[in-house]
Amino acid sequence: MNLAHSLQRIALADPRRPALYEGNRLVHDYRGLADRTARLASAFLAAGLQPGDRIALFMRNHPAYLEVLYGAWWAGLAVVPMNAKLHLREAQWILDHAQARWAFVTSDVGEGLQAPHRTIEVTGQDYQALFSLPPSPMAARAAQDLAWLFYTSGTTGKPKGVMLSHRNLMTMGLTYFVDVDAIDLRDAIVYAAPMSHGAGIYAIPHVMAGARHVVPASGAFDPAEIFKLARTIGRLSMFAAPTIVKRLVDHAQACGAACDGFKTIVYGGAPMYAADIERAIRVMGPRFVQIYGQGESPMVITALSRAQIGDTAHPRHAQRLASVGVAQTSVEVRVATPDGAPLSTGKIGEILVRGDTVMSGYWRDPDASAAALRDGWLFTGDMGSLDEDGFLTLKDRSKDVIISGGSNIYPREVEEVLLLAPGVAEVAVVGAFDPEWGEIVVAFVVPRSGHAIDTAQLDAVCLEHIARFKRPKRYRIVESLPKNNYGKVLKTVLREQLKETP
Ligand code: AMP
Repeated sequence: MNLAHSLQRIALADPRRPALYEGNRLVHDYRGLADRTARLASAFLAAGLQPGDRIALFMRNHPAYLEVLYGAWWAGLAVVPMNAKLHLREAQWILDHAQARWAFVTSDVGEGLQAPHRTIEVTGQDYQALFSLPPSPMAARAAQDLAWLFYTSGTTGKPKGVMLSHRNLMTMGLTYFVDVDAIDLRDAIVYAAPMSHGAGIYAIPHVMAGARHVVPASGAFDPAEIFKLARTIGRLSMFAAPTIVKRLVDHAQACGAACDGFKTIVYGGAPMYAADIERAIRVMGPRFVQIYGQGESPMVITALSRAQIGDTAHPRHAQRLASVGVAQTSVEVRVATPDGAPLSTGKIGEILVRGDTVMSGYWRDPDASAAALRDGWLFTGDMGSLDEDGFLTLKDRSKDVIISGGSNIYPREVEEVLLLAPGVAEVAVVGAFDPEWGEIVVAFVVPRSGHAIDTAQLDAVCLEHIARFKRPKRYRIVESLPKNNYGKVLKTVLREQLKETP
């Protein structure tokens, strides 16, 4: 089982099918992409790289991304994609930890990076020289062989290298067709978020389906550019974290931009508040599907389908919209006690996952692997509850729970309510030490531009919707929230700020 096989079969059966675009420019058809990939594989093998060796990608989004991913797999190597926004020191740490042999970089990142063997800039002559050998036959890989070392984004602690096999990613790709979206060969996936993370893994189902791949010419996320591509390329799908969805919706609303060039927007990676998704559907139409996954079971834990999101007549539609949907087809999901015993419907516990998309462990970290994988289940570190219909609602990561006066308060619940108050753009709720209560609830609130926040009104909205003890005892009105490279709010930073200036 080699992931590159899915590319080869399309290239053989339908060689002229368009494969890869940079902006509106066609870079390769499927035959061209497979040819580049197989030649790159020759260069790897000629240089002495062995199946199982790791090569790193420290690149902003670029068409070469797909060549390097599939070229590595074709040669039997594993890839280590790293976020281009990482500090050089963080990137070096990952490169060393992964024992990567080569690193591919774009000209704007990676200067000073010390790869054990070679650093190759994908816009340079050294890169082009790698394609001079004849194409190599595809290396045989076993299903459990390493394909992708996925360094977790590190909202806490040092990143860990999630080991994902060919089988993990193959199952992930196939599950997409059942639980997320049927892909038609006329469809296109646009890489608007970093390909090192959420967005890049969408290449796998879209190569399987022989669809088009579009790397924005800017290599970054610019809503105006994405709308333009939707217009010119058409049938565009994308993965977007909630912050990116918000920016798309803002753009559509501000410019009255047409949305019919978009097919599907898959959102996930962080909480999407009910008010935000309702607005997104109002403005952009029924194009949304939610997934809940994590690096350790990429893209695949639960999904909330387009039909479920659109079923507004359902008596529990509001709860469903605030949930992350139901277990995807290839996995089992359980809500459990800390020792893994299943909890009954409605009870909050840790979310466990079992199935073929679940990693085999963390690279060179047996302790962390043993803690995360027990009795065949992945302990996600996320808290949640299942309802009687199998819908899972997240209740924050276990460490995010605020315990105030002995009561557990889940920040997500308070955040959902605060977002209902007029003039609130974003919120993040954390706990702060308090001598009387143990912890108290503190809300960081970002106003919409041109709005002033009245904290009495925030209080009133809370009292209207949630128990009095969950209401924030303090508010901090701020211009923005600290976020990591993927747009996730860094609650650890907020907690630090509270320690420094209580
Ligand atoms: P990562 O491994 O960096 O992709 O982060 C995965 C984490 O993001 C999960 O463990 C969840 O805490 C969070 N997450 C992923 N998808 C969702 C979602 N749909 N809603 C809320 N949080 C999510």
